[in-house]
Amino acid sequence: MRPKVLLVEPIGDPGTKLLRELADIKILPALSQRLVISHIRDADAVIIRAMLRVDRQAIDAARQLRVIGRFGVGIDNIDVERATEVGIPVVWTPEANCAAVADFTLGLILAIARKIPIADRTLRGGAPWQKRHEFVGTDVSQKVLGIIGFGRIGRAVAERAKGFRMNVLVYDPLLDRDIVAGRGASPVALDELLTQSDFVSVHVPLTPETINLIGEREIKMMKTQAFIINTARGGVVDTRALLKALKARRIAGAALDTFDKEPPSRRGLMFRLDNIITTPHIAAFTREALEKTSTMVAEGVLSVLRKERPQFVFNTSVFEKRGMINNQRRF
Ligand code: NAD
Repeated sequence: MRPKVLLVEPIGDPGTKLLRELADIKILPALSQRLVISHIRDADAVIIRAMLRVDRQAIDAARQLRVIGRFGVGIDNIDVERATEVGIPVVWTPEANCAAVADFTLGLILAIARKIPIADRTLRGGAPWQKRHEFVGTDVSQKVLGIIGFGRIGRAVAERAKGFRMNVLVYDPLLDRDIVAGRGASPVALDELLTQSDFVSVHVPLTPETINLIGEREIKMMKTQAFIINTARGGVVDTRALLKALKARRIAGAALDTFDKEPPSRRGLMFRLDNIITTPHIAAFTREALEKTSTMVAEGVLSVLRKERPQFVFNTSVFEKRGMINNQRRF
């Protein structure tokens, strides 16, 4: 019997072709959490992107699930704890899109500092040429970039920022200070990063500890000419506090690729402010990154279906306990 793989969202050509060699594929007919629950029942593998969840209810509804694949790196929409309890490995694609996200982050820094999107909108809208004098931006070179979370993407952002002659401060309490210093950045406490930075860029995962990590108190500590960039997860920055600060010009601007609720409401304050740039969660969307991600997630899922150990597993403890798990229904 060929294993059944449920794709909650399509994953693109290279990965789909690889999966088809070994498995039968079903793509969820519509983006609905209810449909995830009903279609996961007889799936041997499920692959998820950012829109829906493989939560406890979905895992418990699955009768023969052997692996969960995450196309991308944000694992916050998977109940990893439950998956681990019942012995299901979660495979993911940590290396695939970090260059794309880091490039995009620098793009947002430049775009917000130099008012590029609003200048473009104004010119297209037929405004008089002289309006250009309103688009005086700020230098990026020699400015301080504060990076919160110095993992794969945070480090790739730092590397690029050095090319722009920025001075990089890092807050990542889980890392050895030498790792940060070794990459030409200065490890600092969060409060120091907030008070010193001209640009604050967030690169932490969304966890109970990082929800609203940047809230009203933190935003109040920032310089009035500073900008916030969020390509991580919307929930890491308190949206209400951020919009309030942007409206009052407490800080200079923000560029957001991710939102606490996606898609964000178009009626809200966010889309009326001119000191904010929004993009629809596309930091990882380059042809190269998507192809790599597609192949990597398919390879991870196929390894588990072939009873091999995959290269990138989030909950590695599943394999450490595997002798025990082999006796359970999952394997
Ligand atoms: P990573 O796991 O490699 O790095 C995360 C870093 O955050 C680690 O160094 C960790 O020590 C640090 N960290 C954890 N908790 C912290 C805390 N409380 N305070 C400070 N630092 C903390 O992750 P990554 O691959 O670099 O991804 C970073 C973020 O980017 C994630 O939120 C991910 O979901 C997001 N992401 C977004 C997109 C997009 O399309 N916008 C694409 C890929 C990744």
